[in-house]
Amino acid sequence: MSTQLKLIGMALIVQKFGGTSVGDADRIRAVADHVARTRAAGNDVVVVVSAMGKFTDDLIHLADQVSPTRPPRELDMLLTAGERISMALVSMALSDCGVESASFTGSQAGIITDTDHTRAKILEMRPDRIREAIDSGLVPVVAGFQGVSTDRDITTLGRGGSDVTAVALAAALHADVCEIYTDVTGVFSADPRVVPKARRLAKVSFDEMMEMAATGGRVLMLRSVEFARRHGVPLHVRSSFTWEPGTWIVEEDPTMEEAIVAAITDDTSEAKLTVDGVPDRPGVAATLFRKLSDRGINVDMIVQNTGTNGLTAISFTVARTDLEAARATCDEVKDEIGAALVTSVEKIGRVSIIGAGMKTSPGVTALMFETLSTHGINIDMISTSSIRISCVVEAEKVADAVRALHTAFGLDAA
Ligand code: ASP
Ligand code: MG
Repeated sequence: MSTQLKLIGMALIVQKFGGTSVGDADRIRAVADHVARTRAAGNDVVVVVSAMGKFTDDLIHLADQVSPTRPPRELDMLLTAGERISMALVSMALSDCGVESASFTGSQAGIITDTDHTRAKILEMRPDRIREAIDSGLVPVVAGFQGVSTDRDITTLGRGGSDVTAVALAAALHADVCEIYTDVTGVFSADPRVVPKARRLAKVSFDEMMEMAATGGRVLMLRSVEFARRHGVPLHVRSSFTWEPGTWIVEEDPTMEEAIVAAITDDTSEAKLTVDGVPDRPGVAATLFRKLSDRGINVDMIVQNTGTNGLTAISFTVARTDLEAARATCDEVKDEIGAALVTSVEKIGRVSIIGAGMKTSPGVTALMFETLSTHGINIDMISTSSIRISCVVEAEKVADAVRALHTAFGLDAA
């Protein structure tokens, strides 16, 4: 695809600015300046904004103080106000840069969602007004994170949802690229706060980025990457503080040799449950995981041991925020499935190595395990995909594990 080439000439670019990028008046003016420069280079631009700084958190806090129940319809109405403020201010700043623009709510931008308040899914895009605005020479500034439901109520797309707005608009408008501006200069080979020698990656495939987002990578929301992959929208993650080129997230390029391991991620947001002394017969796992799923509990890693004497143990991980509910569910089904004991660990660590080149390189698993063992780190659970290996380790050891693996797989910056 000739994306890079096209950027020199006329392209349609969706530029999304996160909370820190529009955090105060100066930042908003800097963003407007950048949009004006992009326009001056001959491109059409659609801007998508998040709420300023921590404004969404502040609104949630306010709602908590007012209402213990926080009716979801009203919570959504409240939270969408954050992005409305940003869009109006950015649009004003653009006009002072001599760029004609107009702001649009998610609803005005034609983002139609289901009725699942606080985590709505986009069902349909009808961006006619945005298209008209572009055609008449305006820069549309769209409020991220929000839409309107099939019941005509205002909805939000889940925390971090402005990325989804940006990618969905880019897909619907057939934009050449969706640029995600943030406070870091791109996607790194590990979290630079954990690994000072982490490197910025010039290019990552959608598949790798999805694995990273799902295992603790904090730069992009998983759903937005899935969406971008499905619609073939190239993403460019970059800094709104330095404006330097960042990381491209694109379709895997079969002509290029991929890094065996591209990145190491860490995650300490999960808890582990073990159901012990379960009869090793059909239906046990089905009963347990059906109950968990009925309660909306998302299970991540699952390990079942080989049975001895007709008994086995099932361990699995969940988000720590779901631990209590998961524990209660296990305690409830314990008798029904004839289990002896339910135990849980509140905080576990997970370290993952990710790389598309893993598919064709033997020895990656052995090197990972050897490295952990050399550093005295015990592996508690293991899970793999074709381009990822994850190990559950003690939460306190995760940072050590990431650093050791980063070095072992040759990722340290010179
Ligand atoms: N403002 C929303 C949030 O903080 C959406 C976003 O920033 O993407 O979650
Ligand atoms: Mg945000």
